Amino acid sequence: MNDNPAIPQSLSGTTYPSADTIFAKIVRREIPAKIVYQDEFVTAFHDINPVAPVHLLIVPNKIIPTLNDVSPDDEQLLGKLLLTAQHLAKEYGIDKTGYRVLMNVNNDGGQVVYHIHLHLIGGRALGRMVSRGES
Ligand code: 5GP
Repeated sequence: MNDNPAIPQSLSGTTYPSADTIFAKIVRREIPAKIVYQDEFVTAFHDINPVAPVHLLIVPNKIIPTLNDVSPDDEQLLGKLLLTAQHLAKEYGIDKTGYRVLMNVNNDGGQVVYHIHLHLIGGRALGRMVSRGES
């Protein structure tokens, strides 16, 4: 459990689809995670395997497997994910130094968890956006 008063302990009224993901379990607090922000729509928590001093994941509470599955009904939700990234970048003091926000999609994009999420990464110089592959 977190002790951050900004995070509601219960999300009563929020409904979840029957499909499940590890991130949905984190949203519902069925498995532990270092949650740093939660509201009716989104949840943000520390990546279990951080690649930089700041590495947060920002997920919709609702399960959407990939960016391909987003619909126009999700327009506001997508904005909410980005505004949460903006807010947390400031809170973690990386808004001025810089950071990267990214979403992986499917196999070539390196997506591992099929519940869309933004990575918010910063706290060090991140170098090239994508390493050059062999082909
Ligand atoms: P993807 O490759 O799908 O864009 O990123 C999935 C991310 O989720 C990875 O960076 C991975 O370290 C993180 N991750 C996977 N399982 C868990 C977990 O159980 N808890 C947390 N906090 N992060 C996880």
